[in-house]
Amino acid sequence: MGRGMLSLCLKCKHINHFNFGIGMAFPMVYEKAIKEARIGDFGEEWKQYTQNPHIAIDAGYKLYLCECGAWKMDKDLSLYEPLKSSDSIDNDNTSYVVPSDLQSHYRCIKHYIHKCNECGKPMQEFTDYDNIEDLRLRCEKCGEPSTGISPVFWD
Ligand SMILES: [Zn+2]
Ligand SMILES: [Zn+2]
Repeated sequence: MGRGMLSLCLKCKHINHFNFGIGMAFPMVYEKAIKEARIGDFGEEWKQYTQNPHIAIDAGYKLYLCECGAWKMDKDLSLYEPLKSSDSIDNDNTSYVVPSDLQSHYRCIKHYIHKCNECGKPMQEFTDYDNIEDLRLRCEKCGEPSTGISPVFWD
């Protein structure tokens, strides 16, 4: 199931879309993330860790907020190792790991810190989905901060 939000900007009428979690294209998203990690797109440490084929990456999308008001949707990108070697992705036929399996069969070994593109500060992951209507994000088009948010769900 997907989870997301729509927010209509009251100033410019632009509709901002936010999609969380995983969708139909997840295997491709995962493949791309692990490839980018292996060639060093996320830094030398991520490159080193992901040379080990048992290490998995969290490719689920999350919302990140900065205290300066900036926000972005991005893949989590934290690194995980299997709790038991029998749970490793090498031992079954899948080449990707969904976030729910990371929670049950893996443990986080490296937490990826997302940095703000505007001010460079570490961003915080948004987790308070119960109160998502209270969230006021800047419109991605005009920058107006007070857009109302409505959660949407789909199968
Ligand atoms: Zn706007
Ligand atoms: Zn910032």
